[in-house]
Amino acid sequence: MKAVVIGGGIIGLCSAYYLQKAGWHVTIIDKGNLNDNCSYGNAGMIVPSHFVPLASPGIVAQGIKWMFDSKSPFYIKPSLNLRMANWGLKFLQHANQKNVTNAAPYLRDLNLFSSNLYNELAAQPGFDFDLEQKGILMYFKTDEVGEEEIKLSEKARSLGLDAEVLTQKQAQLLEPDVELDVAGAVHYHCDGHLSPDKLVQQLKESIIKNGGDLRTNCTIIRIGTSNGKITKVQTDKEDFTADIFVMTGGAWLPDLAKMAGIKIPLMPGKGYSITQNDPVLKLQIPAILCEAKVAITPMGDRMRFGGTMEIAGINNTININRVKGIIESVPNYFPNLNVALPEKKDIWFGFRPCSPDGLPYIGKSKILNNLIIAGGHSMMGLSLAPATGKLVTEMAGNVPLSVKIEAFDPERFS
Ligand SMILES: Cc1cc2nc3c(=O)[nH]c(=O)nc-3n(C[C@H](O)[C@H](O)[C@H](O)COP(=O)(O)OP(=O)(O)OC[C@H]3O[C@@H](n4cnc5c(N)ncnc54)[C@H](O)[C@@H]3O)c2cc1C
Repeated sequence: MKAVVIGGGIIGLCSAYYLQKAGWHVTIIDKGNLNDNCSYGNAGMIVPSHFVPLASPGIVAQGIKWMFDSKSPFYIKPSLNLRMANWGLKFLQHANQKNVTNAAPYLRDLNLFSSNLYNELAAQPGFDFDLEQKGILMYFKTDEVGEEEIKLSEKARSLGLDAEVLTQKQAQLLEPDVELDVAGAVHYHCDGHLSPDKLVQQLKESIIKNGGDLRTNCTIIRIGTSNGKITKVQTDKEDFTADIFVMTGGAWLPDLAKMAGIKIPLMPGKGYSITQNDPVLKLQIPAILCEAKVAITPMGDRMRFGGTMEIAGINNTININRVKGIIESVPNYFPNLNVALPEKKDIWFGFRPCSPDGLPYIGKSKILNNLIIAGGHSMMGLSLAPATGKLVTEMAGNVPLSVKIEAFDPERFS
């Protein structure tokens, strides 16, 4: 049986990996070379702690304040573009407690399932992607954010997640090399981290070694459909047929879905990262700086600083003020940790595929019966990739699913 996987980001690679393990012949088609997508330079965190979607109470008011700060971590560009307006409206409708309450158990289960699959994957021959399960530390400086984070940790514990509130002194014991200027932290023991570039490379090698077909620099330009099925995928090089098609595509998912006659609201959320090789000072445990919304991840002998969510369409410009915003926030939390502003060529950026309700799109299409859609993972694509790949494989094989996916219906906005 043949499967064509559209898009070779982490969601496409994990889908192909598990499909292949289940006996499918897989072909992955990607317009790039797999080193130039969102899955390559992200912060590498595995985050069951992130059970609150982006569309949540308070985000709209905070977003409006941040719109006037050129270094802010979150920015929605005002635009008359129809796709943006449609997405914005749906985002506003979902930025409430009801959305968070509905989403939390689904995101928790998917994340915990994924985290277990990462442990299994890391034990396979040919895989060594610096996986560590030391948790992450959410640092806060202000009383207001501290209160919110402590409340969130209580909610996390009520969902069965392992979260511990630490004083500044307790957190300092975990990070002996860096000075901490924080009010406290929450240690999410349930989280982990890895090196995403190594993972991407090793998945690619494993898929090819096991007979998979990887077509890079091959752009999908049309999707042929007939009688409720995809008949072929046309690219700028050749056409592909298959028994089942898995549509990923990250921030480009709406364009691909449109080719198949399906509407999927999604906007790219641009973020930046900077990586230090052999840093003088290194954190032991990944950190999230809560007020600044910056992530810092030790990755093998490197350390990566990432942040910013710019909802402004796909564009390749580097907004240096936002990169400065990331860098300048670091010594506010770690006074002896200074990061130099790199040259533009050393600044990585990627487009998070953001759905308006903050939930991914995972499921079989009801419109085209040989299509499975897997995308819209926003800030959690790396974290949720193995679980998504496994679910895609279960759906392709018509076997019972490992976790519930009703909330992720890809055609829920159609
Ligand atoms: C700064 C930053 C930090 C992040 N940190 C984390 C983190 O710590 N943990 C976490 O879980 N997530 C994190 N993320 C989010 C995560 O990186 C994404 O959710 C994830 O990479 C999305 O994977 P994807 O496979 O859906 O998309 P992508 O990786 O973007 O892959 C989509 C692929 O589809 C291909 N494609 C699109 N259109 C076509 C076409 N027409 N023809 C052929 N191919 C096509 C593209 O070329 C691309 O390779 C972060 C993101 C950013 C920006």
